[in-house]
Amino acid sequence: MRRDDWSKILGWPGYQVYRDEIDQKAKTLKLWVRRKRGNRRLICSGCGRRITDPADITEREVRDLPCFQYRTTVVIELYRVRCPDCGLKIEKVDQLPSKAPFSKRFEEAVGEACESASARRVAKQFGLAESTVRAIDLRYLERWNAQRAKPALQQMGVDEIYLGKTTKFVTVVSNLETGEPLWFGRERKKETLDEFFRTQLSRRQRQRIEAACVDMWEPYKASIQEWSPNCAIVYDKFHIMQHANQAVDEVRRAEFFRKGARMRGVVKGKRWLLLTRWVHLTADKRQQLNHLFALNRRLMKAYLLKESLERLWTYTYEGAMRRYLKSWTLQLRWQRLPAFEKLAHLLIDHLDGILNYCRVKVRFGVVEAINGNIKTLLRRGRGYKNLRYLLLKAQRMAVTKTEFVLFRKAA
Ligand SMILES: [Zn+2]
Repeated sequence: MRRDDWSKILGWPGYQVYRDEIDQKAKTLKLWVRRKRGNRRLICSGCGRRITDPADITEREVRDLPCFQYRTTVVIELYRVRCPDCGLKIEKVDQLPSKAPFSKRFEEAVGEACESASARRVAKQFGLAESTVRAIDLRYLERWNAQRAKPALQQMGVDEIYLGKTTKFVTVVSNLETGEPLWFGRERKKETLDEFFRTQLSRRQRQRIEAACVDMWEPYKASIQEWSPNCAIVYDKFHIMQHANQAVDEVRRAEFFRKGARMRGVVKGKRWLLLTRWVHLTADKRQQLNHLFALNRRLMKAYLLKESLERLWTYTYEGAMRRYLKSWTLQLRWQRLPAFEKLAHLLIDHLDGILNYCRVKVRFGVVEAINGNIKTLLRRGRGYKNLRYLLLKAQRMAVTKTEFVLFRKAA
C-alpha cells in the first residue's frame, strides 16, 4: 500500500505516514507519522503560545483505534519548543490530549464505552488494565466538562448519601432544574455546605438562588440561611417520606424483634413490603402484608399512617395542607407509637418549610432521581474512591440521560 493511502486512512490532519509495519502473526499495525510540508504551526503545550522555531525533535508512541483486526499504534514525530514563559516544552498536538500513550479518539472510544458498561468490562474489551480505563474515562469526562455550558443555579437540592464505612456520608448539591449533581462534599455538617457556597459560587450567584430542597437537617438549614438568606427552604416529599419509612421500620423492630425467634421469623424479609406503597404491590404481596397486619395491629396502624401522610402533597393550598397535617397528627393519639410521635414533632417543627411547597414551585422527585443514579453508579462501578470521578460520572449520566432511575420501590 502507498504511504499516501495510509495517511488517508489514518486521517490525522496535518500529518503524513512515512513508514509502516504490519505484523501478521501478532495482528499489529504500526505507523510512523510526521508533519506534512507546510504544517509549521507550533504551539507550546504549557501556555498555548505560538512559537516560530522548534528546539529539537523527539518521538512518542500512542495507541490509536484499531484498523480492522489490527491493533494500531502510531509513532509521532514531535517538536520541542523553547517557550519564553515555560522554558523547554513539548509542542501541543490535538491528537494527543494527555501525557498518556493514547490518541484522543482512542480515549474517546474508551470514555464512550464506559458510559454504558463497567470499567471492568471496558478493560476486557480494549485489552487495558482497569485502572487505566478509569484514568482515561476521568480525562474524557474532564474534557467534556470543561467545554460545556453550565446553566445558572436557581433551585438547588441538598441531600446526603451514604458511601459505606470508609467514606461515610457525602453531601450532594444538585441543580433541580437541570437534574444534575453539582458538587460533592465530605460529611454532612454545616461546614460542608458552607464550603460549597464559599468555593463554588460568587456573591451574585448565591443571591440568585430562590429555593432549596433539603432534608429536615439543621446544619444544612443554618448554612443556607447564612449564605443565601433570600432562598426559600422547602422540605420535600422524598425526604419526609424517608423519615416516615424509618418510623414504620422502627415499629416493626419494636413489635417483632424483641419478641423471640418465632415472631422474628414472621417478619423476616417483609421489611421491603412495609416500605413499599400499597398501590405498587401485587395482590400476592398485599395478602402477605394483610397476614402480617392480622398478627399485629400496631404495625398495620403504622403502615396506614405512612400511607396517609403521602396525601399531604395532593394539596396545593397552604391552609388545606396545614389542616390535613393537623388531622394526621391527631390520629396518633392513644396509638402508643413513639416513632410516629417523634415524626409528628419533627413535622410540626418544620411546618413552614413543608408549607413552602405551596408557595414555591420546585421540581419534586429530582433529588430522589439523582440519589438513585448515584447509587446505580456505585453498585455498578465498585469503589469510587475518587469523588471527583463519581461526580463527573453522575453529571454525564444526568445530561445524557442514558439511564434515569426512578425509585419506585422507596417511594
Ligand atoms: Zn509556554
